[in-house]
Amino acid sequence: MSDLSRPAGPRIIAVANQKGGVGKTTTAINLAAALVELGCRVLVVDLDPQGNASTGLGVERDERSYTTYDLLLDDAPLTDVIHPTGIDGLSIVPATVDLSSADIELISNEKRSFLLHDSLRQVAMDQYGWDYILIDCPPSLNILTVNAMVAAHSVLVPLQSEFFALEGLSQLMLTVREVRQSANPELRIEGIVLTMFDRRNNLSQQVEQDARDNLGDLVFRTIIPRNVRVSEAPSYAMPVLNYDPKSQGAEAYRALADELMNKTSREAA
Ligand code: ADP
Ligand code: MG
Repeated sequence: MSDLSRPAGPRIIAVANQKGGVGKTTTAINLAAALVELGCRVLVVDLDPQGNASTGLGVERDERSYTTYDLLLDDAPLTDVIHPTGIDGLSIVPATVDLSSADIELISNEKRSFLLHDSLRQVAMDQYGWDYILIDCPPSLNILTVNAMVAAHSVLVPLQSEFFALEGLSQLMLTVREVRQSANPELRIEGIVLTMFDRRNNLSQQVEQDARDNLGDLVFRTIIPRNVRVSEAPSYAMPVLNYDPKSQGAEAYRALADELMNKTSREAA
């Protein structure tokens, strides 16, 4: 796919891994903030009923009047569900726990896999001038994650640097292939990013070696280190880039944004 073959508009990236706690939300928020630092306009779509991306970007629960639920299940126009964050150039469609019933509510809806795709292609999009839309997926390969993959140009996979990290990846890749066959033939793997990496830990090194041996240049060169500032930032309702701009975590997400902007995404394994 060349960029010429698709209409101008934002690059839509689903941040997905069906394992919980691997750094999806952290990556969505901080990569978004880093892209904004590079001059991009970015929308984060919170597709996890836990709403951690919304909290992490400072949208309080009582401020979430319109959410991803309204966008997907109540046909709310995109313009109604976008919330600003404290960061210029960064907006979010927040999520609340309502979204957890989506699977059941959508069972009989024939277009259930295309709801996010259709919402993100509304004409109203153009006025925002977004360069990237990052979708923070739930820890599951459910209908919400499928919606993200159908809507997206590519999938970015955070991989926690721990034992069993690569387990589950083949199932994720299978889902990507299925979505490609059934709904979104252009879907790419944007890349796999190692998160919570501990350089002093042999296991982290081993996971990196295994990932690079098995997945080659699907794996980003940039590695996100385990850094306490990264885990503190959400309780201050901001990305680590704003909470502690000089921290190792902030620098790593800047490097990831830089690498993302300079690489072309690959056809999946
Ligand atoms: P997921 O969205 O995949 O469930 P999260 O992004 O919420 O995962 O991360 C899980 C936990 O790990 C969170 O408490 C988060 O703050 C912490 N965490 C994520 N990345 C890092 C990191 N690089 N260094 C330290 N803690 C991290
Ligand atoms: Mg999450």
